[in-house]
Amino acid sequence: MTVQEPSSTSTHVIRKKITGHVGFSNLPNQVRRKSVKEGFRLTVMVVGESGLGKSTLINTLFNSTVCAPREPLHPAAERPKTVAVENIEADIEENGVRLRLNVVDTPGFGDFVDNGESCNPILETIEQRFDAYLSQEHRVRRAKIVDTRVHACIYFIQPTGHSLKQIDIEFMRRLHNKVNLIPVIAKADTMTDEEIFDFKERILSDLAFNGICIFQAAIYEDEDEESVAEAEEVARAIPFAVVGSDRAARTPDGRVVRGRTYPWGVVEVDNPAHCDFGKLRQMLVRTNLEDLREHTNQVLYENWRTEKLLAMGIAQDLTVFEEISPAERLREERIIHQAKLAKMEAAMKDVFREKVELQEEKLKQSEVELYARHKEMKDALSKQWTQLMEKKKQLESGSPDARKKTFRS
Ligand code: GDP
Repeated sequence: MTVQEPSSTSTHVIRKKITGHVGFSNLPNQVRRKSVKEGFRLTVMVVGESGLGKSTLINTLFNSTVCAPREPLHPAAERPKTVAVENIEADIEENGVRLRLNVVDTPGFGDFVDNGESCNPILETIEQRFDAYLSQEHRVRRAKIVDTRVHACIYFIQPTGHSLKQIDIEFMRRLHNKVNLIPVIAKADTMTDEEIFDFKERILSDLAFNGICIFQAAIYEDEDEESVAEAEEVARAIPFAVVGSDRAARTPDGRVVRGRTYPWGVVEVDNPAHCDFGKLRQMLVRTNLEDLREHTNQVLYENWRTEKLLAMGIAQDLTVFEEISPAERLREERIIHQAKLAKMEAAMKDVFREKVELQEEKLKQSEVELYARHKEMKDALSKQWTQLMEKKKQLESGSPDARKKTFRS
C-alpha cells in the first residue's frame, strides 16, 4: 500500500491500493456478481467540525490510512476563510472484488465565527458532481459514464448530549434532498449508554421537527429472517454512535483489537456492545451500498435534474425508466449547451469587468502620482523663480559690492 498525505489544495486526488478486510466482498451474491467485473464505486463525503474524528473514522472504516491526520492549526496561524473540499481516492481490493472509494473531506466546516456560509461550498460540490453526470448523460457516446456523485454524507454531531446545534440543523436542512444523510454521534466513548440513548431520541425528534429526512436503511422482507433482523437492528441504531481508532489496543484478556485504551479498559470499535461502528460499516459497504447508489441516482439526482431542466424550460414528464426520444435529447442538449455558453459568457464578463476595474484603479493611482509630481515640480520652479526675482532685485538696486556678491553667489 502506498500512502500519501492529502493535499490542502481544494481538489486533489490521491490514489491508494489497500488490502485489508472491509466487508463489501460479502455483498449479496446477485449484486456482487453484477459488479465484480467493473468494480464498485462509492463516494462518501464527511462533514463535521474539526477534531470530531472524521479522518480517524474513515481510516477505521476502510481499515487503512486513507486520510492522513491533520495537524491542528497553531492559535496564531491565519485561519482559512472558507470550507475546503478535498478528494481522496482509494482502490480497495478484497477477495478479488474492487471498490473505488472516493472520500470527499470538508476541512474547515463549522470553524468560523460566522458559520452561515459553511454549507455553500459543500452544496456546490454536490451540485457540480450532478452537473458533471448530466453532461456525461448528454454526450453522444454515453457508454462509459463515470459516476462521481456523492452517494452518502456522514455528518458528525458533537457528543454534547444536548439538542442539535443550529449549524447541524441548517446543514442537514439544506442538504437532505441532495444527498443521503447519515448522521453519526462522534466520539461516543465520551458518553454513557444512557446518555447516548437519550441523545439519539433528542436528535431524532429535532430532525423530525425540522422536517429533515435522513437515509433509512432498507429492510427487504423477502430475505431470510436473520438478515431482516440484522437490517432492523441497523435501522434502529440510527443515528449511529461511533468510536474511531486506527490503532491496535490490547484488552485485559489479551486480545488485540482496534480500539481506544483508557485507565479503566479498552473501547473496542468493532464490538457492537461498545458502539455502533460495525452497524455504520455494515450499512455503508455491505447491505446498503447499492441502496445508497440507487437512491442517489433515482431520487436525489432525478429530482435535481428535473428541477434544473425545468428551470431551463425543458418539461420533464417522463419517468426514470422511459427512454427519451433522440429529437427530445437533441433539444435538451441544445438548451443545456446554450445554458453552459451563457454561464461561460457571464463568467467571462465578470473577469473582463474585474480586469477593467483593476486597470481603472491603476490609472487612477498613476494620475494621483502624476499630479503629486507635477505639484512638486511646480512648487520647486516657483521657489526658484522667487529666488531669481530676489537676486534680480538686489542686482538692480544694490551697490557694486552687493552686485559682485550676488554675482558670485
Ligand atoms: P477530524 O479533524 O474531524 O478529522 O478529527 P481527527 O480524526 O483528526 O481526530 C481528532 C482527535 O480526536 C484525534 O486525537 C483522534 O485520536 C481523536 N479521536 C478520533 N476519534 C475518536 C473517538 O471516537 N473517540 C475519542 N475519544 N477520540 C477520538
